[in-house]
Order: sequence, then structure tokens, then C-alpha cells
Amino acid sequence: SKPLLHVNELGKVFSTRSMFRKKQFRAVHDVNFTLEAGEVLAIVGESGSGKSTIARMLTNLIPATSGDIVYNGESLRASRQLRRKLPTFVQMIFQDPFAALNPHHTIGYIIGRPLQVQHIAEGDLQQRVLELLQKVGLTPAEDFIDKYPYQLSGGQKQRVVIAKVLGLAPKVIVADEPTSMLDVSIGVDIMNLLLDLKDKENLALILITHNLGSARYMADRIMVMYAGQMMECGPAEELIHNPQHPYTKLLLYSSPDPWREQSEAFEVIDPQGKVASGTGCSFHHRCPYATDTCRTKPVKIVQIADGHQVRCHLFG
Ligand code: SF4
Ligand code: MG
Repeated sequence: SKPLLHVNELGKVFSTRSMFRKKQFRAVHDVNFTLEAGEVLAIVGESGSGKSTIARMLTNLIPATSGDIVYNGESLRASRQLRRKLPTFVQMIFQDPFAALNPHHTIGYIIGRPLQVQHIAEGDLQQRVLELLQKVGLTPAEDFIDKYPYQLSGGQKQRVVIAKVLGLAPKVIVADEPTSMLDVSIGVDIMNLLLDLKDKENLALILITHNLGSARYMADRIMVMYAGQMMECGPAEELIHNPQHPYTKLLLYSSPDPWREQSEAFEVIDPQGKVASGTGCSFHHRCPYATDTCRTKPVKIVQIADGHQVRCHLFG
């Protein structure tokens, strides 16, 4: 049978023009994966790794430059019908619940308005909003319906965002750093809520994060991205306990506390360097094992175990 989601050779090039030259920046290159209902995939990488660009292509906020995204056998590139229904099929949760909620609207309106657009009968609307509030643990729901976002905590706001998303009955939720602006314990509550809802509603979940700790906690599979490419992908526990790619090892060993934000621990990837790296491994200038081959020869993805892939010349 067809997977719920099939990402095939996905690529994105951004072009910028200055007065004298056109610059191209390859943000995502040759990304492949499939996802089934009930599964959680974490896409892990530093800022600039292309993970948020993938999220935006999955939700059709930006078009892909190459490759395709296929939902239930329907191609996003080819099917206008799919593009039309995509806003209900795939929903995105962003990291900042403060920015996601209109401060002038009540919680009831924020959750109810998209349902109205979907032609839910007026009489059922309030009942449906109350159910959604209950589903995300905002109880008693009646107490929340007339509140405004400023009256809620950060964690409660993220729950409202999740309730609004659930109201559209999506099949896939893409969560881009959904807990990074919350305190650790509140972040864990939100992760548990997403996992619980994933099971109950049989959703597929894509977690975008730079934090291997939350990836491990939530995901069945982890895909590690670097400079727009998938470097390693495998079952979460296997990837954490038995990392193979030099970059995955660096990510793991440079995060003493897996729950802590990791971004400061890394140098920022130089976008110029990425383009300049051309044909070789895009990680070669940071890799302790790099050889001349790594600098010049394109690296292919190698299957090293069932469902475990690595892009590195050390393998295969
Ligand atoms: Fe390091 Fe070479 Fe493997 Fe790239 S291909 S990760 S440079 S060993
Ligand atoms: Mg990002």
C-alpha cells in the first residue's frame, strides 16, 4: 500500500540577486523519506541545516525546486486538488505560541473560526470547541473559551495552538521546535500531549528540532540533516546508541545535557562554504576523518542495516 507521505529526492535552491550577481543557495538537497500514520519522524539539525525549509515545503508554504512530496499517492507537484486540500491534510505547529495566537481574539474564536470556515453547523460549534479544549487538557474547558491569549501561560497557549490544529482533522502534523520556547517540564508535557494525540487520532508527526534529546523522546525514527542533506537516518534508539555518521557522533557527544538547547555549542554553518563545497561531502571541513576523496567525490547514501542509512564515504 502507499505510504501516507513519501518525500522523493526533495530539493530547494534559493536565489538572491544583487546588482552585480545572482547567488544561489542550496538549502535542501536530495532528501528522501516515507512516513506512515501513527509514526513520529524527527528531523534533527543545526540552524541552516535545511530542516525548517523541509517543513515549509511539506506544508506547501514554499514550493520545492526539485523532487516531489507525495501524500497518499497524490503528488503535490502534479495535483492541484491535493494543494487545495493540503491546509487541512497537513498542519504546522511553530515554536512561538505567542506569535501564533491573535491577541485580540478569544480562545473560543481562535479555535472555532477555522471550524466555521469548514462549515460546521453553528449549533455544534461551541460543543466542538469545548471538546477540542478537553482533548488538549485545557479543563474545565468552559473556563477557557472566553479568555484571551494574554491570560494564558506559554504552555497553555501552545495547547490552544494544538487544539486549533486538531480541529482541522489533519493526517500529518509538522511541529517546528514546538517546545523550545517553553520551560523544560512544560515542554515535556507538550511532547507527551502530542504523543498521546498522535496515538488517539492516528496522526503522523514530524518533529523538527536541533535537540537530540527531544528527538529521542518523541520519535520512532531520527533523520540527521547537515547543510541541506540527510547524513544519517535510522530507528531512534539505534541512532542514539549506535551512531555511525561522524556528524551524528559530533551532535551526540557535544550535548552533555540532551535537554538543553544546543545551538550555542556549534559553530554556525557558513552558507558560502556549503555552496563552495560543491561535489564532495558537505561536512568535510569539520570532519576528523576527512580524506581527499571526501573533499572531491560525491557521497552516496548507503543502507547499513534495516531502515538505517548513512551518507559517508567510510561506509559501502
Ligand atoms: Fe567525514 Fe568523509 Fe564521511 Fe564526510 S564522507 S562524514 S568528510 S568521513
Ligand atoms: Mg528553524
